[in-house]
Amino acid sequence: MVSLESIIQQKQVGGILSNSDIQQIVNGYTSGVISDDEMTTWLNAVFQNGMSYDETLDYTRAMVNSGVTLNFSHLPGFVLDKHSTGGVGDKVSLVLGPLLAACGCYVPMLAGRGLAHTGGTIDKLESIPGYKTALSLTEFQNIVETVGISIMEQTEEICPADRKIYALRDVTNTVASNPLICGSIMSKKIAEGIQGLVLDIKVGNGAFMKTISEAKELGDLLKTVGKLYGLKVTPIFTDMNQPLGNCAGLWCEVLESVECLQGNGPSDLMEVVYHLGIEALKIAGIKNPIELLKSNIENGSAFEKFIEMVVAHGGSLKSLEDFEIHKPKYKMKIIAENDGFITQMNTLELGQAVVHLGVGRQLPGDQLDYSAGIQFNKKIGQTILKGETLAEVFCSNQKKIEIGYSLVGNAYYLRKNSPKVLDLIY
Ligand code: URA
Repeated sequence: MVSLESIIQQKQVGGILSNSDIQQIVNGYTSGVISDDEMTTWLNAVFQNGMSYDETLDYTRAMVNSGVTLNFSHLPGFVLDKHSTGGVGDKVSLVLGPLLAACGCYVPMLAGRGLAHTGGTIDKLESIPGYKTALSLTEFQNIVETVGISIMEQTEEICPADRKIYALRDVTNTVASNPLICGSIMSKKIAEGIQGLVLDIKVGNGAFMKTISEAKELGDLLKTVGKLYGLKVTPIFTDMNQPLGNCAGLWCEVLESVECLQGNGPSDLMEVVYHLGIEALKIAGIKNPIELLKSNIENGSAFEKFIEMVVAHGGSLKSLEDFEIHKPKYKMKIIAENDGFITQMNTLELGQAVVHLGVGRQLPGDQLDYSAGIQFNKKIGQTILKGETLAEVFCSNQKKIEIGYSLVGNAYYLRKNSPKVLDLIY
């Protein structure tokens, strides 16, 4: 067996690792033989020097094989999922997952926690009192079969390698790397035993992919790897030069998702939900996708699916209707100092502000503040008058609110002339 030191050194000088080197790294870290520091050194080397296509494939396979792979082929409907590469205010999974289940699909969704400056579906769901995100495989399978959707995290049984590596990448600045993203996303999706996958690849100043060409490169990689495992993958490229929807945080995003499921969602968020939904239903061979999606929002079925899922996961239904839960202790408004147009939003800085407010982790194991977040009163292209509120920050820690306040104020750009309107779907 090659020594760990020489595997790390080889990657540090841009060398190519063998399948067994990669298995040694993934299995060694998952089982605890390789320490956090050693793994961080290796992740940094991959971050700097990348991986070849074969290495990426070997890495993804090792991640998949760290746990079990499910099989839902006995179910009477199409089994599919969606996944995002990560954004700010991106709550699409909480809306689209139940909506697809209401359309007759089965959605076994393994989702992640916050990653760097981007929010995580699992952290958001955990703000619902009682909602269990780590289920046994039997519980997960039962909920998918009976409700049509279950959203949970990686566990010791399914994708344990991603569970550990994901948490380490979150706090070591090693997220924005195509091979690491590919291994992380595709291992979860392959292990789910799905037939089709819609990928929301975010592009822009708040995404890990800053340009469309970087995003396309990742899209091609994810699609090719999916194909090797018999998955029908449709990558969609959506804009992340401003947050999606009107808020970013944990509990506030659950509430905004409920508004979407009840037919009152913000138009940008619903545009992404419907666009991804259409592509998902096309993969599933379902006719008239947009009519079906809209009718399942309008007739309340998608919202019912969401509630059924919450209850099946042990969550309390009553609390969802109680808007006072997770009430922030502190709130601060960011007031415009001049009239003008919002021409730009530094979404990376906004995501970092959300983390500073208590929505993400700066150190492993940091406690999250479910009450924390930002309300975006104005977004790109809108006009504002001096004295009006641009945004509001809120959380339950006095020091944190001040940091969040200054970061958000600096992330907005106001100018005299109206900006070019951004396309939401590339
Ligand atoms: N989503 C994931 O599951 N993993 C990544 O690395 C990035 C986004």
